[in-house]
Amino acid sequence: MRVVRFHEYGGPEVLRYEEIPDLHPQAGEVLIRVRACGVNHIDVMLRSGRLHLPGQQALPHVLGMEVAGEVVAVGEGVKRVCVGDRVLAAVVTCGECFFCRGGRENLCENRRMLGTHIPGGYAELVAISERGVIPLPDGVEFSEAAAARTAFGTAWHVLIERGRLRPGEVVLITSASSGVGSAGVQIARLAGAHIIATTSTEEKAERIRALGAHEVLLYPKQDVLSEVRRLTDGRGVDLVFDVVGGEVFLQGLQCAAKGGRVVTCGAIRSDQATLNIIQLFFREVEIIGATGSTQSEVETILGLVARKELRPVVDRVLPLSEARQAHILVEEGRVFGKILLVPEA
Ligand SMILES: [Zn+2]
Repeated sequence: MRVVRFHEYGGPEVLRYEEIPDLHPQAGEVLIRVRACGVNHIDVMLRSGRLHLPGQQALPHVLGMEVAGEVVAVGEGVKRVCVGDRVLAAVVTCGECFFCRGGRENLCENRRMLGTHIPGGYAELVAISERGVIPLPDGVEFSEAAAARTAFGTAWHVLIERGRLRPGEVVLITSASSGVGSAGVQIARLAGAHIIATTSTEEKAERIRALGAHEVLLYPKQDVLSEVRRLTDGRGVDLVFDVVGGEVFLQGLQCAAKGGRVVTCGAIRSDQATLNIIQLFFREVEIIGATGSTQSEVETILGLVARKELRPVVDRVLPLSEARQAHILVEEGRVFGKILLVPEA
């Protein structure tokens, strides 16, 4: 099978398109023929060596955390999935730890992610435990599913579960042209919120308005804090959704109203920030972390995609052999929504 791997950490040039022996499913595993694989920021961070997670693959490493495709073989003991099923795969949780038992399997102690711990979807075939597989509803294309999994799953978990967004609230979404940001705009709209979004260019702003944002601010051209205050009569926003980190995260804290919430689920720009604790307690602002999504959240968003209430935003589809180009585009921020890799026929 053909695969894209890296044998050393570094720039996009370390990604190599090569031939390796086909995978075979072990007991409890399913073998999936990859039809679409989403490209994420974590891919770039793992490839560069900036991010090292416990238990991640030894080199050579196969990236790709969200895969949609068809089941082509099943290992011994597999019960839930059959050959020919259309599925989505991403994360394997244990089903037994404290968090899994409590329905918070995104925090599973034994969580193993495709593309990080398990050889991922930058390949023609993927082998994964059947516990990591979700059947695709009719009417959801492979490309839609791969583009929706992480972006909508995360945005739903951030806004609805962790952020407790209510109809009528005002939400600030930073970096709204990113996969998760553009998903957040659609979910916030569905939830009946008033949406203020930030992005970098007028061209991206136009597309964010089309997804449902009420106001779009251009960063750093406009002063986001003073614009947010102007748009909210000086009050600030009820909820901030930040994936950028660093200075932008701090700006989000200042944009939050008294008693407001700030949910962080990423640090694309920087994982460090120095904040004023006095401002935090006097204003009773909550800082909330969010990571991943639960299986039921993913099933919910797939249902909404099937009913066309959420529309995954696909920037472009590239052949697997052009994974390097995909990474360059992501690193340079020249992406609106999701880039998908598709193995050549
Ligand atoms: Zn668990």
